[in-house]
Amino acid sequence: MKYDYDLFTIGAGSGGVRASRFAAGFGARVGIAELGPLGGTCVNVGCVPKKLLVYAAHYHDDFAESRGFGWTHSGASFTWREFVARKDAEIARLNRIYGELLDNSGVTRHAGRAVLQDAHTVKVGDRIFTSERILIATGGVPDLPEIPGAEHVISSNEAFHLEALPRRIVIVGGGYIAVEFAGIFQGLGVETTLVYRGPLFLRGFDTDCRKLLTAEMTRRGIRLLFDTRIAQIKVAGKGYRAGLADGGHIEADLFMYATGRRPNTQGLGLEAAGVKLNDKGAVLINDEYQSSAHSIYAIGDVTDRHNLTPVATAEGMALTRRLYGGMNARVDYSNIPTCIFSQPNLGAVGLTEEEARRQGRRIAVYKSDFTPLKHTLTESGEEALLKLIVDRDNDRVIGAHMLGAEAGEIIQGIAVAMKAGATKRHFDETIGIHPTTAEEFVTMREPEPEETAQ
Ligand code: NDP
Repeated sequence: MKYDYDLFTIGAGSGGVRASRFAAGFGARVGIAELGPLGGTCVNVGCVPKKLLVYAAHYHDDFAESRGFGWTHSGASFTWREFVARKDAEIARLNRIYGELLDNSGVTRHAGRAVLQDAHTVKVGDRIFTSERILIATGGVPDLPEIPGAEHVISSNEAFHLEALPRRIVIVGGGYIAVEFAGIFQGLGVETTLVYRGPLFLRGFDTDCRKLLTAEMTRRGIRLLFDTRIAQIKVAGKGYRAGLADGGHIEADLFMYATGRRPNTQGLGLEAAGVKLNDKGAVLINDEYQSSAHSIYAIGDVTDRHNLTPVATAEGMALTRRLYGGMNARVDYSNIPTCIFSQPNLGAVGLTEEEARRQGRRIAVYKSDFTPLKHTLTESGEEALLKLIVDRDNDRVIGAHMLGAEAGEIIQGIAVAMKAGATKRHFDETIGIHPTTAEEFVTMREPEPEETAQ
């Protein structure tokens, strides 16, 4: 054999593990290297523990709302350390499962940092392996701005393993992570402030949903500071004090930055192997996931395209089906559904109203804004908002947006309909499930008037 392996994967996260298992399933000889625990960001410091935290935080609302249904209780309390221990046990279980999945599919695991020596050679610790192909699936890492005092802040990585909850936290950023963690910390009883540099967070999502989420988060007690920039952070007593660009300041016991993530490509030896990166450090690939070094491929967050776990796994499957399964597999990147696990959720698939108009489409906008049945008995005042964007030229539903409980669960189903090319008429002809929030998606009769919809 010319090489030790047919495929050597660097990074055992969602994309790398899936690609390796599939390749081995097609009969390829596969090795995989991972420096940290198996499962990567999603399993260890991302989707999975984050969602567990979201559940934990949501009990705050659940306990309060139960009074509206006749429940009385003498006050509930939350123990952070107990939660962390239970969460860590579950993550350890998942790490083991990932190991078993790799072992059972015949992938050889190598623990340690992998560094490319050339386009067919990888060094892991002091061992050298050759491979016909190499797959870079090293994901991303938090990207913190270099402001004075940046050494005092944490990223989401550390948020999962805090010794104790702070009394007050400031979260900087206005993307998925900042918004989700603001809801988590506030729900767990931490005095929470979110600082965002722009006029309204979650840029790119539906404006009505973003505005309603602003109201929902404020109602829950989160302080939202928009159009606000932090210039520097200093130690102040047992906590920290941030000087704002406009001259003001804010204090907290903990500052967490969620200002984006960057591709994890430093120190991998990519340049030596002839792999070109873009100016953000992402591996440049063609539409077959092949880098400028033709034996080296890359999938998932390290390519900085659609930084979502299910996209990385889909890419891993498509790549290995093509390389080893003799199939012409491709990922369809249209209509990728997504959800911000805020309280309540913001789920979306397809185009926003704004984006559809920018593209010059003739659209009809259907909107429903109401108090869900559950909250007619609670004092929460929580509202839900559902929106459909319809292309007037062919009646196709080209966007669905929802702010409300379980929007992630609901939008997943809508995404299937949109993938199948559903028209508004299909939605209208679908019988609702009553009483649900989701049934609003099939009972929206009148579009917004043209003049206000413009
Ligand atoms: P995002 O890219 O979503 O958001 C980054 C935010 O930080 C933006 O609001 C941006 O502002 C702001 N920002 C960027 N640079 C600075 C700066 N120098 N100073 C102040 N603010 C700044 O990143 P996240 O870290 O929230 O998440 C990373 C990725 O992880 C997401 O893009 C997503 O793909 C994935 N993810 C997905 C989740 C899910 O599916 N539920 C959950 C968590 C993460 P501006 O808008 O002005 O650019």
